[in-house]
Amino acid sequence: MGFSRRGLLKKGAAAAAAGAAMAAGRGTADGAQGQGPAVVTGRTFQAWVSRGTGPKRTTLQDVKLRPVTGRMVVVRTEATNLCYSNVGVVLGIQAAPPSGAAAPANAAAVGGTLAGTDAMALIQGHGGVGVVEAVGPEVRRVQVGDRVCVSGTPQCGSCYHCLRGRADICQLLGRNLASDLIPVADLRDGTPVYSNSHIGGLGELMVTWEEWIVPVVSKASNVDLGMICSCVSVAGLGATTSGTLATLAPGSAVAVVGCGPLGLSAVQGARIGGASTIIGIDPIRARRDVAMKVGATHVLDPNAEGDRLIERVRALTAGPTNRTWSGGRDSGGRRSGAGADLVVEAAGAEFVRPKLEQGPDPSGILPMQQAYQMASAGGHVITTGLVRGTIALPAFLFAIGGVTHSGGQAGGANPMRDIPRFVEMFHAGRYDTKALATRVVGLRDVLGAYEEVAYRTTVTALMVL
Ligand SMILES: [Zn+2]
Ligand SMILES: [Zn+2]
Repeated sequence: MGFSRRGLLKKGAAAAAAGAAMAAGRGTADGAQGQGPAVVTGRTFQAWVSRGTGPKRTTLQDVKLRPVTGRMVVVRTEATNLCYSNVGVVLGIQAAPPSGAAAPANAAAVGGTLAGTDAMALIQGHGGVGVVEAVGPEVRRVQVGDRVCVSGTPQCGSCYHCLRGRADICQLLGRNLASDLIPVADLRDGTPVYSNSHIGGLGELMVTWEEWIVPVVSKASNVDLGMICSCVSVAGLGATTSGTLATLAPGSAVAVVGCGPLGLSAVQGARIGGASTIIGIDPIRARRDVAMKVGATHVLDPNAEGDRLIERVRALTAGPTNRTWSGGRDSGGRRSGAGADLVVEAAGAEFVRPKLEQGPDPSGILPMQQAYQMASAGGHVITTGLVRGTIALPAFLFAIGGVTHSGGQAGGANPMRDIPRFVEMFHAGRYDTKALATRVVGLRDVLGAYEEVAYRTTVTALMVL
């Protein structure tokens, strides 16, 4: 076959038309900004839609895609993580506040539905991986056919936080109340359907916006890519390897409080970052076993250790030179031993009583207090768990204990910079996805898998299509 004159003419005409479109300010996905006509597909797809209250609030529905406009991106879902933070809204469980405490104002963060969205039809989930099927006319970041991560954390690139290198707290992150959401589809009866947090995930399509999309070039399987790009892996690796919140020097001592998928990712990040002592702490024996498998050098059971937990961590992190005049870190007194250079708290509150071993405090407050107290003088603690209540800390330690604290939304990960790096960590054989993705289900079995996540009988679960 060769180039026919006719073919060349056709290509030339197409190029001229594209040029005219650019000149007229109607950009293509490959280059310029500008407005253009919406992409109209009218396609019907299946998704888990929640609405109302109670345990039957989430059902599998046929929904019809609305026209794709502006910076919208439609992604054919390959995999999405069934995140523990969504257990409350998906299964309709209202997490009870601890006795004597008022319900937190942001109940959404710990299990209630987002303010005002109860009555709205919401496609559940928050992110996943897949292939771009359609883009609005203003989209520049990706093209149809790209394999992408739909990130749990957006990155607009133009808010104050993004501009100062803190895309982990991009301004768009909190814009997910009822009045912020935009309908992306309709139920059969015409009820508008929205994507949870602008992203969704639990459906055949994810209908989102450019700011939540991260292109990833990878031939990894759906399970592997879905796991490495999940919110929990990103947060665990972010806390330990992104460098946004804390720098992990090789040879450091790291403690990880809570070995769910986020904590186990932090354990792996500590290993990847060259930590020499990595202490995984979790009440569930099966999770401690996984921690040892993916990089922990020690594991501790907070139930068995009780009040001695902090002391044990401070002893395990005290190396042979931990003496006065020899480079030691021992501050003596009530702070003997060394303490971890970096502590990642990843425990969080329980929605339901686990069917495996229950932790010492279902509200998640105690593990957070302990995490602060097991950091070394000059050390760093990053808290990621969604807990209920108000935390109390020894004021003396809080004032002059020398501990730096960072709130660990996404572990400080910068989506566009870090998620492709995390994918490379997987390809380099340094990140174990299989140890975390211990339950993989299709579209129809999502609710059952969510119950396993809720009861903690699996490390985490993925929906893979
Ligand atoms: Zn999540
Ligand atoms: Zn931003």
